[in-house]
Amino acid sequence: MLPVKQAEEVILGLVQPLDADEDLEVVDLLTAVGRILAAPVTSQLDFPHWDNSAMDGYAVRFADVQHCNPQQPVELRIVEEIPAGYQPQCQLQAGQTARILTGAVIPMGADTVIMQEQTRREGDRVLILTAPKEVGAFVRHRAAFYQAGMPLLPAKIKLNAAEIAVLAAAQCTQLSVYRRPRVAILSTGNELVMPDQTLQPGQIVDSNQYALAAFVAQNGGVPMLLGIVADQPVALKHAIAQAIESADLVLSTGGVSVGDYDYIEQSLEELEGEIHIRAVAVKPGKPLTVASFPQPQKKSSVLYFGLPGNPVSALVTAWRFVQPALKKLSGMPESDWQPVFVKARSHQDLRSDDQRETYLWGYLHLVDGIYQFKLVSGSHSSGNLINLAQTTGLAMIPVGKTFIPAGEIVDVLKVVS
Ligand code: AMP
Ligand code: MG
Repeated sequence: MLPVKQAEEVILGLVQPLDADEDLEVVDLLTAVGRILAAPVTSQLDFPHWDNSAMDGYAVRFADVQHCNPQQPVELRIVEEIPAGYQPQCQLQAGQTARILTGAVIPMGADTVIMQEQTRREGDRVLILTAPKEVGAFVRHRAAFYQAGMPLLPAKIKLNAAEIAVLAAAQCTQLSVYRRPRVAILSTGNELVMPDQTLQPGQIVDSNQYALAAFVAQNGGVPMLLGIVADQPVALKHAIAQAIESADLVLSTGGVSVGDYDYIEQSLEELEGEIHIRAVAVKPGKPLTVASFPQPQKKSSVLYFGLPGNPVSALVTAWRFVQPALKKLSGMPESDWQPVFVKARSHQDLRSDDQRETYLWGYLHLVDGIYQFKLVSGSHSSGNLINLAQTTGLAMIPVGKTFIPAGEIVDVLKVVS
């Protein structure tokens, strides 16, 4: 049984990220949210594009107004009004000013803006009541935020609202992003049926396929559902071969224990996969199996996760071990691969009864900025899928610890953000 940390290292060591040159697609900016940028972006535009006003007020020549004060205001003649989107027509001469609004172009001759609150308008004249602190006050200078030709966004970042805004402002409407990883999902078990089938005695619904499809989609992958495969070596071998051929990563559930109908390992060996992990010291999820299949025609191997069949074990191992692999595969930077653990104060006593790293599911709440962890009520059996619903975190009890008293701080794996 591999310790969790070691299993994580082995898994990440096996993942080869998508190729920045080959595994690309060009997408429209409007559909790019959540995608990973494949190449750095530069812009030929300066930001701001021109000197502009940070305030509603008056564009002035600093020299004209530098000594004024409320007792001795300076009177200037308004020669133009410059709203946003308007190209100034005049060049300011001594004693002149232009009414200017936020974001509008600073006219030639002006170097400073006086905010409206420091002025008094009198017809086509304005009194400047307070001297500006410095030349350039309230002027946003051209290229102060970004200079054309410099790196604008680096490769490998995930595109969220802020990045999409920057790309829109830079007029980058078509983007090179990594394609989404293809993840084949299959369920094994003679007892399984689809949710729309009538249950016969002894049958249960294949919930794992749905759980993993949702998990893959939430992590930016394309789920490829290969259906239910019977506990039958030939059928399994055929299904696994098909999965390896069509996907970057394969997830199966069930058939990895030591029962009489558990044929995954045998099938992986017969297909000449290299098995790297057969069991991990984790609860739930001990029988996690990980193999790789070198693909001579591609540069990378296909990674295979044989997840346990128990619905809770399947999701916990997906969150703990598959998620980092999927992130690395997607092209994300190394700093984003690791699962997110937060420190939380436990509401209840937490117990672990053996030598495996134990994950207990519950709810994470922020109270005055400090996370609190509440265990779900009901059975913490890995077969009890029902009380996993709406949980947001998994409290982790490390190997060597069997008890964390209520009120103590515990590390909690965030599973829903
Ligand atoms: P196994 O790992 O195949 O021995 O399965 C362990 C337990 O998980 C058994 O009780 C199975 O019935 C259940 N199980 C296996 N696969 C699934 C699935 N796809 N959906 C829901 N439960 C499953
Ligand atoms: Mg089974």
